[in-house]
Amino acid sequence: MKRPPYGSRPRLSREMAQLNWLATGLAQAGSRIERTHWHSRLQSLVEQLLADGDDESLNTVLNRLSESEPVAHDALMDTIESAVESTVTQINGEAHDVLLIACPLLAWSRYAIPAPVLNSKDQTALSDALKATVLTRHANVALLGMLAGPDQIPREFTQLAQLTRHLAESLASGKTAALHAQASEETNRFLSDTRYLIAAVSVPRGEAFFRWQEPRAANSSVQLNERREIAAAWSTQALKVLEPLLAGCRVQMLPPDAFHAACAAADRESRPHSVEACVRFLAEAINLPPEKQRAVIGPFHAQRLEEYRIGLGPRHEDALYHGVVWPMLGVEDEQVDMAVEIEQVLRRLGVTDIVTHDHRFPMEYCDDCGSPMYANADGELAHLEMPEAMTAQPSILH
Ligand SMILES: [Zn+2]
Repeated sequence: MKRPPYGSRPRLSREMAQLNWLATGLAQAGSRIERTHWHSRLQSLVEQLLADGDDESLNTVLNRLSESEPVAHDALMDTIESAVESTVTQINGEAHDVLLIACPLLAWSRYAIPAPVLNSKDQTALSDALKATVLTRHANVALLGMLAGPDQIPREFTQLAQLTRHLAESLASGKTAALHAQASEETNRFLSDTRYLIAAVSVPRGEAFFRWQEPRAANSSVQLNERREIAAAWSTQALKVLEPLLAGCRVQMLPPDAFHAACAAADRESRPHSVEACVRFLAEAINLPPEKQRAVIGPFHAQRLEEYRIGLGPRHEDALYHGVVWPMLGVEDEQVDMAVEIEQVLRRLGVTDIVTHDHRFPMEYCDDCGSPMYANADGELAHLEMPEAMTAQPSILH
């Protein structure tokens, strides 16, 4: 992306300047008591901008701070995400805290992965499973009535805040919430993808949402309070409902958590998952087992390291049949030795012929189809190409 020439950036509005000032003040505060002061003012302004539907101010200031003040950027992002995913609502005359949660799952299939609408029986079963495994006895649940794909989740902060508030209203009224506008977007037909069960959870003000917030003795019954045990129990119960809805897919449940935390964890987990889907796809679709595959790992840069691209093909040959993009996320940068982690993932899957390039590749895409170009074993950019017999397979290839 070309930077605009110096001096041509749009001037900050009064709200934007205020937002910038409060976020920077919060980032530089020297004590918790000062931070609390900055934070409450920043939060009020963020809530006002969300209520006004002013995504532009939020995004403009986030972009500015990401260039000059990364700590202030993170403080502002954290405040926005918290304001988006939580609210307070009156239920039966009592104030309740409401938190938007996500329960992600990773799926892979040689065919299209569905994004099914959930009937009321399945919604009840999933709500009960959440209450029986993840949430405390104080919690009430309003589910979004579908398993959403990444394209079906509202992209803008204000749209997501609206979703939280709609589900909170349905907690108060007891009526099912209508699906949001993005629910009807098409999902891409990737080999592996993430699906999200989304819900608003209410508890009386100040009570705990999740079982891991409570000591084991809080309840006289044997209550799980360890995250790993909770995740395993949720996975077992949720899969009984979800597996029939995802026929032909291999499904791995991830732990439910507050919306943004769960989505960030799913983004990280989906990277090794995509590599696994790709290796298994070649094994099953063209009978090329992992030990006969070669993987070529290349770092791809724009202004900075953006992603690794991993091309897979037959051992001892130059062709690349299939590939996976492994994006750098959040604070990850060149300091993290991501290539080593990718190699470990490949080795665990049984791929031993691994070529890792050190030099930087440009973020190039095919002029014809727009798909990413990969590094081949010789360090040249190459297009993925499945063997002739396989070109009819549905996949990310063209
Ligand atoms: Zn192409």
